[in-house]
Amino acid sequence: MVKVYYEDAVVENALEGKTIAVVGYGSQGHAHAQNLRDNGHQVIIGIREGKSAEAAREDGFDVFEVSEAAKQAEVIMILAPDEIQGSLYEKEIAPNLEAGNSLVFAHGFNIHFDVITPPADVDVFLVAPKGPGHLVRRTFADGFAVPALFAVYQDATGKAKETALSYAQGIGATRVGVLETTFKEETETDLFGEQAVLCGGLTSLIEAGFETLVEAGYQPELAYFEVCHEMKLIIDLIYEGGFAKMRDSISNTAEYGDYVSGPRVITEVAKANMKEVLTDIQNGTFANNFVKDNENGFPEFKKMRAERAGHQIEAVGAELRKMMPFVKTID
Ligand code: NDP
Ligand code: MG
Ligand code: MG
Repeated sequence: MVKVYYEDAVVENALEGKTIAVVGYGSQGHAHAQNLRDNGHQVIIGIREGKSAEAAREDGFDVFEVSEAAKQAEVIMILAPDEIQGSLYEKEIAPNLEAGNSLVFAHGFNIHFDVITPPADVDVFLVAPKGPGHLVRRTFADGFAVPALFAVYQDATGKAKETALSYAQGIGATRVGVLETTFKEETETDLFGEQAVLCGGLTSLIEAGFETLVEAGYQPELAYFEVCHEMKLIIDLIYEGGFAKMRDSISNTAEYGDYVSGPRVITEVAKANMKEVLTDIQNGTFANNFVKDNENGFPEFKKMRAERAGHQIEAVGAELRKMMPFVKTID
């Protein structure tokens, strides 16, 4: 059973008197920085010049080059994109790490796949909210929080776990629960979830359903409503009350069809393919391909992005959403 930590697990403020450098001020960065500051912590921002740097200044933070922020801080939280963390660490962070510092992540990728090899005399841990940054900030402001995972990779000071829990408290997560894991488990399950189900599995499922209807001669606009637009309504019900609430709310026709046809689409073959995806994550094949493509300027990534953006469903959806001004964009 997973171990869950709440407010009462934080017996001391292990961040007392420490400066926290939040590196990056994007989705996660702005939320961590603002929540920590609201909880009384000393936060500075390490970032390159640009849009995010301006936003951080506007929000009242002291903004420095990443190297300078790393030098000033005892706790360094890396919230830059995963694919640039390796070179950012090499050039700007590693030279400014001191014994006893904490090197912190919100995703285990670079540590788990050995892109970053920290020195033995620093604490290394992760605190990963299970939701996008804007939700991390909004729920905090409303008095709640997004649950988070934490894991200790390296405990040089003997206080890594206390520091991780104090950090989790700082961003609000102990209000609702912080689940203990390892870098290996967080990294592999996170990658699998987004690839096989949440992002990859879902968009491929929608595209295949759309193509099936359109190729059979049905109007693309109707196909869009049936296989894409209604997805959110179904997911909201599952989010609130599991499959039970969703099945309670749909018609008996839909529920009967759910049972007889769902397993014909996601068959044992699909599950065997999922296992192959998981194997590629576990043995480093996926990480290796991603890192290599990034080193070459992401040619494969950009090609796939362009191909998928050109799918008919995207053009059809863009037109239909204009009819529905109540469908708000969440940025
Ligand atoms: P974003 O892309 O939203 O933000 C990245 C930030 O890093 C931006 O402020 C960007 O600034 C800055 N940055 C980019 N390049 C550099 C550079 N060379 N030097 C300094 N700063 C730079 O990232 P996320 O917040 O999505 O992800 C950050 C981490 O959080 C990742 O490890 C991710 O896996 C993890 N995570 C993300 C979640 C999410 O829902 N987004 C959920 C849980 C974990 P600029 O504006 O200049 O580009
Ligand atoms: Mg992820
Ligand atoms: Mg219908």
